[in-house]
Amino acid sequence: MHVVLARDDAGAPEIFRSIQGEGPKAGLSRTFIRLSGCNLHCVWCDTAYTWNWRDTPFEHESGKKFERDAEAIKLTIEETAARAAVLSSEGFVITGGEPLMQRGVLPALIDALKAASPSSMIEFETNGSIVPPQDLIARTDLFVVSPKLAHSGNAATVALKRDALSAFAALPGAVFKFVARTEDDVLMASAIAKQYGVDAGRVYIMPEGTDVETLAARAAALAPAIEAQGFHLAERLHIAMFGAKRGV
Ligand code: SF4
Repeated sequence: MHVVLARDDAGAPEIFRSIQGEGPKAGLSRTFIRLSGCNLHCVWCDTAYTWNWRDTPFEHESGKKFERDAEAIKLTIEETAARAAVLSSEGFVITGGEPLMQRGVLPALIDALKAASPSSMIEFETNGSIVPPQDLIARTDLFVVSPKLAHSGNAATVALKRDALSAFAALPGAVFKFVARTEDDVLMASAIAKQYGVDAGRVYIMPEGTDVETLAARAAALAPAIEAQGFHLAERLHIAMFGAKRGV
């Protein structure tokens, strides 16, 4: 069995240990496994090298396209787990791209990670548009679900799937993290949370941006709306620490 990973700047599989920069576990040591491929195509995506291949029609604010062969690498489950396990941390974050595109092999990957590091937490970062299978739910401690709003450039019919969002909302171990540019985005997040019965304590609003100035300005502008809804403001600590780079 194989998994398709993104590559880091050196061309190696993008498996790295760092401080989690976003969401409810921000500030904790984690080992990240970044998978290649995404079913959505956000115009501001900061990992467009996982999906925006040359000769595809998808638009991105950067105008950049990527060569699939140069950006993706196939590894066995065993080798992927071994590379992650030697980095050891309190938990593994399986991210992307959209990791659930490879959901068929992910239970085996988690089993291999757990065999090497039994007490580690297993976390997923997902766009919430694919129904999580039961064999994945049973092996996962935390899903950080990031439904994509209109400013991402994805049609709501593609990004906001009722069956998938209902399935994640029903999991106590799932939180929802919305990327926001404006107060209207916070209100949209609120409407979605109410529609799916997600209480405010499980909702994080993360300003969109890939530099500290933009993030700080948007956080300040969004703060009143976030506070009014009782949501969490989610930072992007890795941007402040390392900038917008791969493998951090
Ligand atoms: S869902 Fe995530 S990985 Fe996919 S295009 Fe959007 S921001 Fe990028």
